[in-house]
Amino acid sequence: MSANTMVCGIVLHPAGHTRSPAMHNAAFRACGIDATYHAFDVPPDRLGDAITGMRGLGLRQLAVSIPHKTTVMAHLDRVDERAAAIGAVNTVTLRENKLEGANTDWIGALRALEREIDPKGRHAVVLGAGGAARAVVYGLGQAGALVSILNRTESRARELANELGAKESGPLEALADLSPDIIVNTTSVGLGSDVSPAAPEWLPAHAVVMDAVYQPENTRLLRDATQRGARALPGKWMLVHQAAEQFRLWTDTDPPLDVMAQAFDAAGRDSPS
Ligand code: NAP
Repeated sequence: MSANTMVCGIVLHPAGHTRSPAMHNAAFRACGIDATYHAFDVPPDRLGDAITGMRGLGLRQLAVSIPHKTTVMAHLDRVDERAAAIGAVNTVTLRENKLEGANTDWIGALRALEREIDPKGRHAVVLGAGGAARAVVYGLGQAGALVSILNRTESRARELANELGAKESGPLEALADLSPDIIVNTTSVGLGSDVSPAAPEWLPAHAVVMDAVYQPENTRLLRDATQRGARALPGKWMLVHQAAEQFRLWTDTDPPLDVMAQAFDAAGRDSPS
Protein backbone atom coordinates (compact mmCIF):
# COMPACT_ATOMS: atom_id res chain seq x y z
CA MET A 1 0.00 0.00 0.00
CA SER A 2 1.10 3.57 -0.64
CA ALA A 3 -0.44 7.01 -0.24
CA ASN A 4 -1.91 6.49 -3.71
CA THR A 5 -3.63 3.20 -2.89
CA MET A 6 -7.38 3.58 -3.30
CA VAL A 7 -9.05 2.58 -0.02
CA CYS A 8 -12.59 1.26 -0.14
CA GLY A 9 -14.68 -1.05 1.94
CA ILE A 10 -18.02 -2.13 3.28
CA VAL A 11 -19.90 -0.79 6.31
CA LEU A 12 -22.06 -3.35 8.07
CA HIS A 13 -22.89 -4.64 11.53
CA PRO A 14 -21.87 -7.15 12.67
CA ALA A 15 -18.97 -7.56 10.25
CA GLY A 16 -18.22 -11.18 11.20
CA HIS A 17 -18.33 -13.19 8.01
CA THR A 18 -18.63 -10.95 4.95
CA ARG A 19 -16.98 -12.33 1.82
CA SER A 20 -16.95 -8.95 0.06
CA PRO A 21 -13.31 -8.06 0.92
CA ALA A 22 -12.15 -11.40 -0.52
CA MET A 23 -14.05 -10.82 -3.77
CA HIS A 24 -13.01 -7.19 -4.29
CA ASN A 25 -9.38 -7.61 -3.25
CA ALA A 26 -9.03 -10.58 -5.62
CA ALA A 27 -10.55 -8.49 -8.42
CA PHE A 28 -8.21 -5.54 -7.75
CA ARG A 29 -5.20 -7.89 -7.83
CA ALA A 30 -6.35 -9.63 -11.02
CA CYS A 31 -6.82 -6.28 -12.81
CA GLY A 32 -3.62 -4.70 -11.44
CA ILE A 33 -5.56 -1.93 -9.68
CA ASP A 34 -3.80 -0.29 -6.73
CA ALA A 35 -6.68 -0.54 -4.25
CA THR A 36 -7.63 -2.28 -1.03
CA TYR A 37 -11.02 -3.17 0.45
CA HIS A 38 -11.80 -3.47 4.17
CA ALA A 39 -14.80 -4.53 6.25
CA PHE A 40 -15.78 -1.77 8.70
CA ASP A 41 -17.94 -2.89 11.63
CA VAL A 42 -20.18 0.17 12.09
CA PRO A 43 -23.09 -0.02 14.56
CA PRO A 44 -26.18 2.05 13.68
CA ASP A 45 -25.32 4.94 16.04
CA ARG A 46 -22.00 5.52 14.21
CA LEU A 47 -23.29 5.28 10.64
CA GLY A 48 -23.61 9.04 10.12
CA ASP A 49 -20.04 9.64 11.32
CA ALA A 50 -18.74 6.82 9.14
CA ILE A 51 -20.41 8.08 5.97
CA THR A 52 -19.63 11.76 6.40
CA GLY A 53 -16.10 10.67 7.37
CA MET A 54 -15.68 9.54 3.74
CA ARG A 55 -15.55 13.20 2.74
CA GLY A 56 -12.94 14.06 5.37
CA LEU A 57 -10.72 11.13 4.45
CA GLY A 58 -11.29 11.40 0.71
CA LEU A 59 -12.52 7.80 0.69
CA ARG A 60 -14.10 7.45 -2.75
CA GLN A 61 -16.10 4.22 -2.41
CA LEU A 62 -17.99 2.34 0.25
CA ALA A 63 -20.39 -0.57 0.01
CA VAL A 64 -23.26 -0.61 2.49
CA SER A 65 -24.86 -3.74 3.91
CA ILE A 66 -27.21 -4.89 6.66
CA PRO A 67 -28.55 -3.08 8.70
CA HIS A 68 -27.71 0.23 6.99
CA LYS A 69 -29.11 0.03 3.44
CA THR A 70 -32.10 2.28 4.13
CA THR A 71 -30.85 4.51 6.95
CA VAL A 72 -27.72 5.46 5.00
CA MET A 73 -29.86 7.48 2.58
CA ALA A 74 -30.30 10.29 5.13
CA HIS A 75 -26.53 10.91 5.11
CA LEU A 76 -26.07 11.28 1.33
CA ASP A 77 -26.20 14.31 -0.98
CA ARG A 78 -27.88 12.38 -3.76
CA VAL A 79 -29.59 9.01 -4.27
CA ASP A 80 -29.99 7.82 -7.84
CA GLU A 81 -33.43 7.12 -9.29
CA ARG A 82 -33.15 3.31 -9.13
CA ALA A 83 -31.93 3.19 -5.53
CA ALA A 84 -34.71 5.63 -4.59
CA ALA A 85 -37.33 3.39 -6.25
CA ILE A 86 -35.98 0.31 -4.44
CA GLY A 87 -35.69 2.28 -1.20
CA ALA A 88 -32.18 1.05 -0.44
CA VAL A 89 -28.58 2.03 -1.17
CA ASN A 90 -25.76 -0.53 -1.20
CA THR A 91 -23.08 1.60 -2.86
CA VAL A 92 -21.80 5.08 -1.92
CA THR A 93 -19.42 7.00 -4.17
CA LEU A 94 -17.75 10.35 -3.41
CA ARG A 95 -17.77 12.45 -6.59
CA GLU A 96 -16.75 16.12 -6.67
CA ASN A 97 -17.18 16.19 -2.89
CA LYS A 98 -20.76 14.90 -3.13
CA LEU A 99 -21.82 11.58 -1.59
CA GLU A 100 -23.91 9.66 -4.12
CA GLY A 101 -25.96 6.52 -3.37
CA ALA A 102 -26.70 3.73 -5.84
CA ASN A 103 -27.99 0.17 -5.72
CA THR A 104 -26.41 -2.83 -7.48
CA ASP A 105 -28.48 -5.55 -5.76
CA TRP A 106 -31.22 -5.38 -8.41
CA ILE A 107 -28.80 -5.73 -11.31
CA GLY A 108 -26.93 -8.48 -9.45
CA ALA A 109 -30.17 -10.46 -9.16
CA LEU A 110 -30.97 -9.85 -12.82
CA ARG A 111 -27.51 -10.83 -14.11
CA ALA A 112 -27.66 -13.97 -11.97
CA LEU A 113 -31.03 -14.98 -13.46
CA GLU A 114 -29.81 -14.17 -16.95
CA ARG A 115 -27.23 -16.96 -16.55
CA GLU A 116 -30.21 -19.30 -17.11
CA ILE A 117 -33.12 -17.35 -18.60
CA ASP A 118 -34.16 -14.08 -20.27
CA PRO A 119 -36.89 -12.80 -17.90
CA LYS A 120 -38.56 -10.63 -20.59
CA GLY A 121 -42.25 -11.56 -20.87
CA ARG A 122 -41.86 -14.42 -18.36
CA HIS A 123 -43.96 -15.01 -15.27
CA ALA A 124 -41.80 -14.71 -12.15
CA VAL A 125 -42.80 -15.46 -8.57
CA VAL A 126 -40.86 -13.76 -5.81
CA LEU A 127 -41.18 -15.38 -2.38
CA GLY A 128 -40.74 -12.77 0.35
CA ALA A 129 -41.40 -9.05 0.68
CA GLY A 130 -38.38 -7.74 2.62
CA GLY A 131 -35.24 -5.91 1.54
CA ALA A 132 -33.94 -8.52 -0.90
CA ALA A 133 -37.40 -8.85 -2.47
CA ARG A 134 -37.48 -5.11 -3.23
CA ALA A 135 -34.30 -5.35 -5.33
CA VAL A 136 -35.35 -8.59 -7.05
CA VAL A 137 -38.87 -7.35 -7.91
CA TYR A 138 -37.44 -4.09 -9.25
CA GLY A 139 -34.86 -5.96 -11.37
CA LEU A 140 -37.45 -8.34 -12.80
CA GLY A 141 -39.72 -5.38 -13.60
CA GLN A 142 -36.87 -3.62 -15.41
CA ALA A 143 -36.30 -6.78 -17.46
CA GLY A 144 -39.97 -6.92 -18.51
CA ALA A 145 -41.09 -9.91 -16.42
CA LEU A 146 -44.61 -10.23 -14.98
CA VAL A 147 -44.12 -10.53 -11.24
CA SER A 148 -46.21 -12.13 -8.47
CA ILE A 149 -45.11 -11.49 -4.89
CA LEU A 150 -45.97 -14.15 -2.29
CA ASN A 151 -45.17 -13.66 1.38
CA ARG A 152 -45.92 -15.15 4.78
CA THR A 153 -47.40 -11.78 5.80
CA GLU A 154 -49.70 -11.14 2.86
CA SER A 155 -50.20 -7.44 3.58
CA ARG A 156 -46.47 -6.79 3.05
CA ALA A 157 -46.61 -8.58 -0.30
CA ARG A 158 -49.61 -6.46 -1.31
CA GLU A 159 -47.91 -3.21 -0.31
CA LEU A 160 -44.75 -4.08 -2.22
CA ALA A 161 -46.73 -5.17 -5.29
CA ASN A 162 -48.59 -1.84 -5.29
CA GLU A 163 -45.41 0.16 -4.78
CA LEU A 164 -43.30 -1.54 -7.45
CA GLY A 165 -46.10 -2.34 -9.91
CA ALA A 166 -46.15 -6.14 -9.62
CA LYS A 167 -48.95 -8.14 -11.26
CA GLU A 168 -50.37 -9.74 -8.09
CA SER A 169 -49.64 -10.76 -4.53
CA GLY A 170 -50.68 -13.49 -2.11
CA PRO A 171 -49.59 -15.98 0.54
CA LEU A 172 -46.66 -18.38 0.00
CA GLU A 173 -49.08 -21.29 -0.54
CA ALA A 174 -50.47 -19.61 -3.69
CA LEU A 175 -47.39 -20.94 -5.50
CA ALA A 176 -49.19 -24.32 -5.61
CA ASP A 177 -51.65 -22.90 -8.15
CA LEU A 178 -49.19 -20.94 -10.30
CA SER A 179 -46.81 -22.45 -12.80
CA PRO A 180 -44.22 -19.70 -13.20
CA ASP A 181 -41.12 -19.68 -15.40
CA ILE A 182 -39.02 -18.16 -12.62
CA ILE A 183 -39.12 -18.55 -8.83
CA VAL A 184 -36.86 -16.49 -6.58
CA ASN A 185 -36.74 -17.11 -2.85
CA THR A 186 -35.97 -13.88 -1.01
CA THR A 187 -37.26 -15.04 2.37
CA SER A 188 -34.66 -15.94 4.96
CA VAL A 189 -36.09 -19.49 5.14
CA GLY A 190 -33.20 -21.90 4.54
CA LEU A 191 -30.53 -19.52 5.85
CA GLY A 192 -28.23 -21.72 7.91
CA SER A 193 -30.83 -24.48 8.07
CA ASP A 194 -32.24 -27.28 5.92
CA VAL A 195 -35.80 -26.00 5.39
CA SER A 196 -37.55 -24.63 2.31
CA PRO A 197 -40.21 -21.92 1.87
CA ALA A 198 -41.94 -24.01 -0.83
CA ALA A 199 -43.21 -27.60 -0.99
CA PRO A 200 -41.35 -29.61 -3.67
CA GLU A 201 -44.57 -30.19 -5.65
CA TRP A 202 -44.99 -26.40 -6.08
CA LEU A 203 -41.83 -26.26 -8.23
CA PRO A 204 -42.54 -26.81 -11.95
CA ALA A 205 -39.95 -28.75 -13.97
CA HIS A 206 -39.72 -25.97 -16.60
CA ALA A 207 -38.83 -23.26 -14.04
CA VAL A 208 -35.58 -21.57 -13.11
CA VAL A 209 -35.40 -21.46 -9.31
CA MET A 210 -33.02 -19.01 -7.66
CA ASP A 211 -32.41 -18.78 -3.93
CA ALA A 212 -31.16 -15.46 -2.51
CA VAL A 213 -29.99 -17.45 0.51
CA TYR A 214 -26.33 -18.30 -0.11
CA GLN A 215 -25.41 -20.06 3.13
CA PRO A 216 -25.59 -23.01 2.64
CA GLU A 217 -24.95 -22.81 -1.10
CA ASN A 218 -27.09 -25.82 -2.05
CA THR A 219 -30.23 -25.07 -0.05
CA ARG A 220 -33.14 -27.46 0.43
CA LEU A 221 -35.15 -25.37 -2.08
CA LEU A 222 -32.44 -25.74 -4.74
CA ARG A 223 -32.06 -29.48 -4.12
CA ASP A 224 -35.85 -29.93 -4.41
CA ALA A 225 -35.84 -27.87 -7.62
CA THR A 226 -33.11 -30.02 -9.16
CA GLN A 227 -34.94 -33.19 -8.17
CA ARG A 228 -38.08 -31.88 -9.90
CA GLY A 229 -36.09 -31.29 -13.09
CA ALA A 230 -35.98 -27.49 -12.70
CA ARG A 231 -32.82 -25.40 -13.11
CA ALA A 232 -31.34 -24.25 -9.79
CA LEU A 233 -29.39 -21.01 -9.30
CA PRO A 234 -27.52 -20.53 -6.01
CA GLY A 235 -27.70 -17.15 -4.24
CA LYS A 236 -23.94 -16.90 -4.58
CA TRP A 237 -24.43 -15.61 -8.12
CA MET A 238 -26.66 -12.75 -7.02
CA LEU A 239 -24.02 -11.68 -4.52
CA VAL A 240 -21.08 -12.07 -6.93
CA HIS A 241 -22.86 -10.17 -9.71
CA GLN A 242 -23.83 -7.27 -7.41
CA ALA A 243 -20.21 -7.02 -6.24
CA ALA A 244 -19.06 -7.15 -9.86
CA GLU A 245 -21.35 -4.21 -10.72
CA GLN A 246 -19.87 -2.22 -7.80
CA PHE A 247 -16.42 -3.00 -9.12
CA ARG A 248 -17.44 -1.74 -12.58
CA LEU A 249 -18.94 1.44 -11.12
CA TRP A 250 -15.85 2.22 -9.04
CA THR A 251 -13.07 1.28 -11.47
CA ASP A 252 -14.63 1.67 -14.94
CA THR A 253 -13.16 -1.76 -15.64
CA ASP A 254 -14.92 -4.96 -16.70
CA PRO A 255 -15.12 -7.10 -13.55
CA PRO A 256 -13.23 -10.43 -13.53
CA LEU A 257 -16.32 -12.44 -12.61
CA ASP A 258 -14.65 -15.86 -12.39
CA VAL A 259 -11.94 -14.49 -10.09
CA MET A 260 -14.60 -12.95 -7.83
CA ALA A 261 -16.64 -16.17 -7.75
CA GLN A 262 -13.55 -18.22 -6.87
CA ALA A 263 -12.66 -15.75 -4.09
CA PHE A 264 -16.23 -16.03 -2.79
CA ASP A 265 -15.92 -19.84 -2.66
CA ALA A 266 -12.49 -19.74 -1.03
CA ALA A 267 -13.69 -17.28 1.64
CA GLY A 268 -16.60 -19.63 2.40
CA ARG A 269 -14.18 -22.53 2.88
CA ASP A 270 -12.01 -20.41 5.21
CA SER A 271 -14.99 -19.21 7.25
CA PRO A 272 -18.00 -21.40 6.56
CA SER A 273 -20.37 -19.77 9.11
P1 NAP B 1 -35.82 -9.14 5.53
O1 NAP B 1 -35.97 -7.78 4.96
O2 NAP B 1 -35.76 -9.31 7.01
O3 NAP B 1 -37.05 -10.05 4.95
C1 NAP B 1 -37.22 -11.36 5.40
C2 NAP B 1 -38.30 -12.06 4.57
O4 NAP B 1 -38.34 -13.44 4.96
C3 NAP B 1 -39.71 -11.50 4.80
O5 NAP B 1 -40.45 -11.61 3.60
C4 NAP B 1 -40.27 -12.48 5.86
O6 NAP B 1 -41.67 -12.61 5.81
C5 NAP B 1 -39.66 -13.78 5.37
N1 NAP B 1 -39.57 -14.77 6.45
C6 NAP B 1 -38.76 -14.75 7.54
N2 NAP B 1 -38.96 -15.86 8.28
C7 NAP B 1 -39.91 -16.59 7.64
C8 NAP B 1 -40.54 -17.84 7.91
N3 NAP B 1 -40.21 -18.57 8.99
N4 NAP B 1 -41.45 -18.32 7.03
C9 NAP B 1 -41.78 -17.61 5.92
N5 NAP B 1 -41.22 -16.40 5.63
C10 NAP B 1 -40.30 -15.90 6.47
O7 NAP B 1 -34.51 -9.87 4.98
P2 NAP B 1 -33.75 -9.59 3.58
O8 NAP B 1 -32.73 -8.54 3.78
O9 NAP B 1 -34.77 -9.41 2.52
O10 NAP B 1 -32.95 -10.97 3.39
C11 NAP B 1 -33.64 -12.17 3.09
C12 NAP B 1 -32.65 -13.26 2.68
O11 NAP B 1 -32.01 -12.90 1.47
C13 NAP B 1 -31.52 -13.50 3.70
O12 NAP B 1 -31.29 -14.87 3.78
C14 NAP B 1 -30.33 -12.80 3.11
O13 NAP B 1 -29.11 -13.40 3.48
C15 NAP B 1 -30.60 -13.02 1.62
N6 NAP B 1 -29.95 -12.01 0.75
C16 NAP B 1 -29.15 -12.45 -0.24
C17 NAP B 1 -28.57 -11.55 -1.10
C18 NAP B 1 -27.68 -12.06 -2.20
O14 NAP B 1 -27.02 -11.25 -2.86
N7 NAP B 1 -27.64 -13.35 -2.45
C19 NAP B 1 -28.80 -10.18 -0.96
C20 NAP B 1 -29.64 -9.75 0.07
C21 NAP B 1 -30.21 -10.68 0.92
P3 NAP B 1 -42.63 -11.67 6.73
O15 NAP B 1 -42.81 -10.40 5.95
O16 NAP B 1 -43.87 -12.47 6.88
O17 NAP B 1 -41.90 -11.44 8.04
